[in-house]
Amino acid sequence: MGNKQFKAESKRLLELMINSIYTNKEIFLRELISNASDAIDKLYYRSLTDKKLKINKEDLKIRIDLDKEERLLTITDNGCGMTEEELDKNLGTIAKSGSLNFKEENEKKKDIDIIGQFGVGFYSAFMVSDLVTVESKSVDSDKAYCWKSKGVSGYSIEPCEKEEVGTKITLHIKEDSEEEKYSQFLESYTIQEIIKRYSDYIRYPIQMEVEHSHKKEGTENEYEQVKEIETINSMTPIWKKNKKKITEEEYESFYTEKFHDYEKPLKVIHTAVEGQYKYNSLLYIPSHLPYDYYTKEYEKGLQLYANGVLIMEKCEDLLPDYFGFVKGLVDSEDLSLNISREMLQHDRQLRVIARNIENKIKSELENLLKNDRDKYEQFFKNFGLQLKYGTYDNYGMNKDKLKDLLLFYSSTEKKLVTLKEYVERMKENQKVIYYACGETVDKIDLLPQVEVLKDKGYEILYLTDHVDEFVFQVLMNYEEKTFQNICSDNLDLDSETEKEELKKANEENKEMFEAMKEAIKDEVQDIRFTHRLKNHPVCLSSEGAISVEMEKTLNAMPNNQGIKAQTVLEINEKHEITKKLKELYKEDKEKLKKYTKVLYAQARLIEGLAVENPTEISNLVCEIMAK
Ligand code: ADP
Repeated sequence: MGNKQFKAESKRLLELMINSIYTNKEIFLRELISNASDAIDKLYYRSLTDKKLKINKEDLKIRIDLDKEERLLTITDNGCGMTEEELDKNLGTIAKSGSLNFKEENEKKKDIDIIGQFGVGFYSAFMVSDLVTVESKSVDSDKAYCWKSKGVSGYSIEPCEKEEVGTKITLHIKEDSEEEKYSQFLESYTIQEIIKRYSDYIRYPIQMEVEHSHKKEGTENEYEQVKEIETINSMTPIWKKNKKKITEEEYESFYTEKFHDYEKPLKVIHTAVEGQYKYNSLLYIPSHLPYDYYTKEYEKGLQLYANGVLIMEKCEDLLPDYFGFVKGLVDSEDLSLNISREMLQHDRQLRVIARNIENKIKSELENLLKNDRDKYEQFFKNFGLQLKYGTYDNYGMNKDKLKDLLLFYSSTEKKLVTLKEYVERMKENQKVIYYACGETVDKIDLLPQVEVLKDKGYEILYLTDHVDEFVFQVLMNYEEKTFQNICSDNLDLDSETEKEELKKANEENKEMFEAMKEAIKDEVQDIRFTHRLKNHPVCLSSEGAISVEMEKTLNAMPNNQGIKAQTVLEINEKHEITKKLKELYKEDKEKLKKYTKVLYAQARLIEGLAVENPTEISNLVCEIMAK
């Protein structure tokens, strides 16, 4: 095969690598070793089910060789290898959905961010090398092939000689430049350091020839240089190490590399469980929303290992949907290695582990809320919506687990608060939890209904997520306090005498309201006076189960059925407009209708609803203004 071109996207990534001014160029080794380890995993895992494949576990290893003279660094593995097609496909087209998307968004940002924060893979070899050769023999083929590339100009694939199944990658290390001493990557000591730093946990031995000075036998103090093959890595996966011996940095770099995130995690949860079932788990809560989190493409799940061997990349049964943002892994000694996906679902042990993990995440979140409020709020801003979905999902099956993790904006505290905090602060005479809905905190704050409650010193929860009100409906109450939408018509704030007065006023003006209703008869259930407004003339309240906010949400759904909230136009009895309406009722019923239409349109606008006949309303307003 002659010279072939890289696919456009790969070429861009490659250019980025070659011209990179990124300072941590050493991570190329981590990337290549991690690929080698994956390839060995694949082969080993296959040998467990394919009896024809004879693999000796002890033989599996990664080897690094250095040749200072020729400026060569070689990484050899005896993993699954690649066929000719795989070499072409895997190394000619590298489309890491994550990194490329990330790149797109950050075109103007420096390369450094992209390279440093992402698992950049095989191409990172080009940060330190001007010629990369990959000789590989696949377990599925008896021929070996050699892939070669000097960079963007393209690559070639030719048949070659190779006895053993596996892959050998040879990097020709760049010449030193003013800024960069590439020769360091030919120093045994430096390479050993890099392996220890980034690849210590790799489960297979990473071996190198290391020189030691030994005392010459039979001499007093004559020394000789002896070369020995040594295993550089400790081979203990990080999750099996003693927690006390792991630095924060180690946890973080393991996370960013393994889960392809470019930011440190918000929280690390590392547990070793002894008991009915033994397992280790290492869980991470991301510090930001993955770009695809609320899309169909996002797959939740944890990596599942059976005694150190990866048996499933994303085991979704280990995480409930509402904790789907958690990344990490579970490793259990008791799991059978060749368990199928179907069997796993019914595996008792897995279910127990999943339950433990759920409880663990929950209690860690509770601790975070208690001990580091800022961090918890940061978490909640990213993933709170998921917890809310979880609360009302499945008819509220999990609501009691989640209700204390929810936060809502408080009108008095001017920050996010829990329901518990709200209830503990409730005024003595207060029977319900007040809330109001709207697009933003500022918009809710301007709702006419808010004013009176604020005046009376009540705390109001401002709900700005479209799911919030559904959450309250499912919760039904919190510590026996029910939820009360302050925009609903049964808001009960008045004293008995006030109620009596209002009732009387409404009865006395019954006929006037009837006349007004003529103008908007299909729109509202009722028109009446209210005392819950202070300076504002009108508001719209809802009667029944569907509130105005819910109407908006339901109608924004794809298969909406035009569900409408039943609304009541409420008029502030103490507002001057009342006098005018009464006058008009006596003198000019037609004009009363016009006023009603305008008032109703105003109430809709305040609620954030569209006015269905804007031209008519605009003309009416001008007509009234002109007089
Ligand atoms: P990633 O490892 O994230 O998939 P890379 O760019 O590092 O991306 O590698 C691309 C692909 O090339 C890998 O997914 C793998 O299929 C293949 N590959 C790379 N190195 C090896 C190797 N040493 N042995 C077998 N296959 C390999």
